[in-house]
Amino acid sequence: MRLWGRAAAVRRRMLCLWLMLLGLALVMLALSDLLNRDRENGYQNPGPPRRPLQRIPSPPELEVIVDSRDPALELGVDLTPLKSLQEDQLLFVPSTQDTKNPPQRKQNYKVLLPGSVKDITGARSLTHGEMGRAVHLNLGGFQRDMEQTAVHKYGFNEVVSERISLHRKLPEARHPECLEEQYSESLPSASVVICFHDEAWSTLLRTVHSVLDTAPKQYLQEVLLVDDLSQQGHLKTVLSEYVSHLDGVRLIRSTRRLGVGGCRTLGAARAAGEVLVFMDSHCECQKGWLEPLLERVAQDRTKVVSPIMDVIDWQTFQYNATQWPVRGVFDWRLDFHWESNPQLQDKNPEMAVQPVQTPALGGGVMAIDRHFFQSVGVYDPGMLLWGVEQIELSIRVWSCGGSMEVVPCSRVAHLSRRHLPYHFPDQDLLQRNKIRVADTWMDAYRKIFYRRDTLAHFIRQSESPNITERLRLKRSLGCRNFHWFLSTVYPQLYIPQDRSSLSGELYNVGTGSCADYPSGQGLQGGAMSITPCSGTGSQHCDLNSEGEVRWGPMGDLCLDIKGDRVVSSPCPAHRPTSSTLQWKFIKLSGQIVHQQSQLCVEAVKERGLLQSSPQGIRMNLSKGGLFLRQCTHHPRQQWHFEQLVAPKGA
Ligand code: UDP
Ligand code: MN
Repeated sequence: MRLWGRAAAVRRRMLCLWLMLLGLALVMLALSDLLNRDRENGYQNPGPPRRPLQRIPSPPELEVIVDSRDPALELGVDLTPLKSLQEDQLLFVPSTQDTKNPPQRKQNYKVLLPGSVKDITGARSLTHGEMGRAVHLNLGGFQRDMEQTAVHKYGFNEVVSERISLHRKLPEARHPECLEEQYSESLPSASVVICFHDEAWSTLLRTVHSVLDTAPKQYLQEVLLVDDLSQQGHLKTVLSEYVSHLDGVRLIRSTRRLGVGGCRTLGAARAAGEVLVFMDSHCECQKGWLEPLLERVAQDRTKVVSPIMDVIDWQTFQYNATQWPVRGVFDWRLDFHWESNPQLQDKNPEMAVQPVQTPALGGGVMAIDRHFFQSVGVYDPGMLLWGVEQIELSIRVWSCGGSMEVVPCSRVAHLSRRHLPYHFPDQDLLQRNKIRVADTWMDAYRKIFYRRDTLAHFIRQSESPNITERLRLKRSLGCRNFHWFLSTVYPQLYIPQDRSSLSGELYNVGTGSCADYPSGQGLQGGAMSITPCSGTGSQHCDLNSEGEVRWGPMGDLCLDIKGDRVVSSPCPAHRPTSSTLQWKFIKLSGQIVHQQSQLCVEAVKERGLLQSSPQGIRMNLSKGGLFLRQCTHHPRQQWHFEQLVAPKGA
């Protein structure tokens, strides 16, 4: 009984224990359920399922891509987490509209232009499809203010550009024989690389549409827009969105300011086409422009080719066809020019359709085989922001096995600007780029450059450019020297003699000023003037062994006479030179004697004389300049050649 009683007590205790354990387990279960529910509520927003955060790639270091073919666009996902990124790091935008009909420009970028928006928007349709005529409707002062602001900002009249269709067609300017030309069926594919930095909306988009409207689909691999760290609002989200609706257009954004050359090199690295076509962000293409370029590159992959560059006026947006033949050249200050030479055409009617070789290309539009571009050393990465990168590339292409030409049956118009719109952090940036060209490519001829750009000379004296890599490239490619370039590619360039005491600024003792040839006078027979000495090398001249006094950065202007005036006119192409162009410098007296007339050059300063007459007091301007006079020993007939840079040093 006692035994039975003890066993029952043990069983009761066991039951209690079990019951307690069961209770504990139930409490734990309930608690964990509660905890889980809390966690879910706290971490997940209600709403449609989202793309998991971890699948969004972190922004790449250098560039960000907006691409209408980006698979992410097809997901149609909400990209809320990306809003935390800066605008210029925007990765992509979802596609919401029909790709065949890109949306019209969003109005919000209008913020760019101060004042009324309605005015311009309304007027835009008025010129739709019209060619090159800026229709000035009864513009009030307010409108003019807007235009001035736009010109100040961009260097061209953006208000007028806004009113012109993004799809305007250029009038036919090709030679009739070009229309008969046949091109190969299987041309290589092209990537059109358009770099831009703070380009206006209308000019940028007109460039893009113009390419899309004119380039045959089968040859156009893509249009690659490369944003070189633009700051202006309309080039951010609105542009990304616009581009995402355009078939075959990709947008790459650099997160570093690269400059013209660096930006194009980046575009080239991302391009897939066989041929790269670099194009400025303010161009308009003539019908049929692409095929002739591709044909030439296909024939010879080392040919770098350009269309004839027509001109869009910065004020009116009028299209002006450039006269053929034209080629690209540069002068001894390393400035680039397009040089038209209509006389050549008369001699050879075949020239209408024949490409001509050119010492340099401007770079506004240029087609180059993608592999050749890489193997010849892309753009010099040491070049800062803007300027001379095209001259560097031109000398390199020619010297290292390639060639350059302008193809007349291809025409693209480039917007001429009144001024450069960029603010350079470094005032001497252009000189530094020129120094790279001079020191890398010009051998001993660089002295001629430094004498004509004294700022570059002084910078060069205090610092050396880092061109080791470029010199190595030049060696490894087995490039020819500058003497070869001058004698074979550009024999028309006058090579100054720059003899000691017979070259430099022409200083006049009597007036304390220098002889000058003001720009903008044209090339034929413009009067020489007497102005304060610049010291920059811009007034440098060269009395050569032929007796010519050569002027200008090309050295292609000669001191000449017109009546008793000393003028400058184009130097004759052939020797011996005419005796009216021959001068003698007498070191002892400082006289400059005109050989044919034996008269001396005298400087006369421009003077304003107040004269009273019955009509009142009048200002009578006596013309200054250089005149031929009987030789005397008057200080106004005494000259010396001031050498700003020692002839031996560079
Ligand atoms: N550009 C650029 N980065 C710069 C400066 C210019 O990408 O720092 C672009 C510019 O928008 C243009 C092209 O490079 O599309 C050539 O520049 P620009 O038109 O100023 O040269 P220009 O025609 O005056 O020689
Ligand atoms: Mn340009």
